[in-house]
Amino acid sequence: MSQNIIPPSQKTVRGKLGIVGSGYVGAAAAFASVMRGVAREIVLTDLNEKRATAEAMDIAHAVPFAHPCLVRSGSYSELAGADVVIICAGVGQRPGESRIELLGRNAEVFRQVIPSVLEHAPDACLLIATNPVDIMTHLASKIAVERGIDSRRVIGSGTTLDTARFRSLLSAFLGVDAQHVHAYVVGEHGDSEVLLWSQVTVSGMPLDDFLRRRKLTLDASQRSKIDCGVRRAAYEIIEGKGATYYGIGSALARIVEVLVRNQSAILTLSALTPEVCGVADVSVALPRLCTSDGLQDVFIPPLNAFEEAALARSAGIVRDAILSLGWD
Ligand code: ADP
Repeated sequence: MSQNIIPPSQKTVRGKLGIVGSGYVGAAAAFASVMRGVAREIVLTDLNEKRATAEAMDIAHAVPFAHPCLVRSGSYSELAGADVVIICAGVGQRPGESRIELLGRNAEVFRQVIPSVLEHAPDACLLIATNPVDIMTHLASKIAVERGIDSRRVIGSGTTLDTARFRSLLSAFLGVDAQHVHAYVVGEHGDSEVLLWSQVTVSGMPLDDFLRRRKLTLDASQRSKIDCGVRRAAYEIIEGKGATYYGIGSALARIVEVLVRNQSAILTLSALTPEVCGVADVSVALPRLCTSDGLQDVFIPPLNAFEEAALARSAGIVRDAILSLGWD
């Protein structure tokens, strides 16, 4: 691919971000990373080289209004030295195609893409964003492990965005800025995800205490409205504009920041997990401690009986989809 206007000698070495799949989500992640100032170099790769080059040019033109960053397109070999590679490559659903058939085609994309990325950037953390993200994270982890790569370096975006949506809807209802609201969405990034109402705290106070103190009532119908607002958000956006990308792009940039700057953040990321509520060998979102070395720990919060059953069901749905591929 062309468009390497800046000579190699000026290439930055720290904070290098690769993006494989420069469609809506990959481009939004690159743009958000530039705006957030979390990378010094971004290489956009795509099967469609013209698309990657065009996106790189367009995003590079935003750099003078944001933070210093070299944005360019490139082939897999130009991912060498990347600290993080985001995988957004995937294929769209064909008319009449089932979810499992689509999954099978995306699994084939991963069989090509992941080994190529690992060959050129073996020290990078892989950040998986292709949907269905939990299943794709599972496949990417298995491919990485087959090549001797630690699965803790393979991270799925999971429910990072859903957790943010939950916090922001709670924040609006409670009249408290979202950074003071702790709440988690766990499980599959999809219909079966679980909002952990029992664990919501506001500045350390359990939700019910906060509601009493502020003389607020959050009844079943309001809870269900928030639940729906989180769970159905993607459907509503897709109905209106065909795709979702700014929200997930920003979530990906935040995860890149944690990985590049060696922060120690607890985010609801997806990853290969030996057991979740009785379901073995599955990848779903749970609060996980993440640093630049990848995932350091996982926390299954204390759950009530309803949440535990819902998380077991969600993990079971992901596990069944993994098994349906016949790859495990
Ligand atoms: P999304 O909305 O999820 O970003 P898009 O269809 O806009 O979906 O983007 C997916 C991108 O992945 C496309 O640009 C497509 O060309 C790219 N892609 C598909 N297969 C591969 C592959 N094997 N290697 C690299 N990129 C790929």
